[in-house]
Amino acid sequence: MSRARPARHLLDLTSEERRAALVELGLPAFRADQISRQWLIRLSDDPQTWTDLPADVRERVSAVLLPRILEPVKQVSCDDGTTVKTAWRLSDGAVVESVLMRYPDRVTMCVSSQAGCGMACPFCATGQQGLTRNLTTAEIVEQVLAGARALQRGEIPGGNSGGGADRVSNVVFMGMGEPLANYERVVDAIHRLVDPAPAGLGMSARGITVSTVGLVPKMVELAGLGLPVTLALSLHAPDDELRDTLVPINQRWPVNEVLSALWAYAERTHRRVSIEYALIRDVNDQAWRAELLADLIAGQLVHVNLIPLNPTPGSQWTASRKEDERTFVRTLMARGVAVTVRDTRGRQIDGACGQLAITTL
Ligand code: SF4
Repeated sequence: MSRARPARHLLDLTSEERRAALVELGLPAFRADQISRQWLIRLSDDPQTWTDLPADVRERVSAVLLPRILEPVKQVSCDDGTTVKTAWRLSDGAVVESVLMRYPDRVTMCVSSQAGCGMACPFCATGQQGLTRNLTTAEIVEQVLAGARALQRGEIPGGNSGGGADRVSNVVFMGMGEPLANYERVVDAIHRLVDPAPAGLGMSARGITVSTVGLVPKMVELAGLGLPVTLALSLHAPDDELRDTLVPINQRWPVNEVLSALWAYAERTHRRVSIEYALIRDVNDQAWRAELLADLIAGQLVHVNLIPLNPTPGSQWTASRKEDERTFVRTLMARGVAVTVRDTRGRQIDGACGQLAITTL
């Protein structure tokens, strides 16, 4: 497998840089906006159909700025076709995955930000692979656009007509990788998603969620940008003793530090933050841990997402018993903590983080 550097793509560039790139090609700068509108707004990835541009412009721009950067290598769907998971081969052979989930009122794309992941969480399939590399801005945004095109082509059933489910309304950085370990490109990708056309797709930043295992300096930096995206902390344990093993980066930034950074994010952005907590049988699902978690977070602007663990083959980790899950939920609710159990869409399709890409390799 070659490891050539990924080619530069239109979506790696800001509006200004796109104009400069066109001028470099000897073309008028204003063509950059036309091309951006075709790609990002009309969702047309076939330059032959761009009749507002002369044929020679289309050819030169496609050859230089529109390399094919994602190749679908495997696609599986469930939930009557409304959940579609795709494994993508990148230009250098690395494989990542994205998941489209169409609900009656919205469409969520879960995207990868890295090929593999260096955070080594032992219960996670991606964590077992180690990090291959950071994705480029274009590789991240193209995952979203691939979903948007599939919706536009009518390939995804479901959605109420007139509702918000005709286009991608939400993007969650919860696929492969630790988004804040690829900070610059993830922030650039967010800009491509939320900046108004023709610079970006014009999505609402409120529909975007960035997850992290708790890279505190980057959480602080993200808060400083003032973008109203939701920050989701993958906590998975309220005590350092257990979290040190479940989320090894905890040895660097322990629970009290990551939670302080999370509260600071909520205060700075006025956005409710999320805590992700994978419930793992007999590991982190005891009622006393729910109490301890409540001690740490009650009264904050926070919502807890409990995730029934999707076991990976051959793993010692498995989902909690239903009665333990219920006790955990009740304990948090009794302390006034907002909590939901995440629906486990994609469970039939190798839905655990990273699993599809692994089976494809
Ligand atoms: S759980 Fe997330 S941060 Fe941890 S190894 Fe898996 S992908 Fe990386």
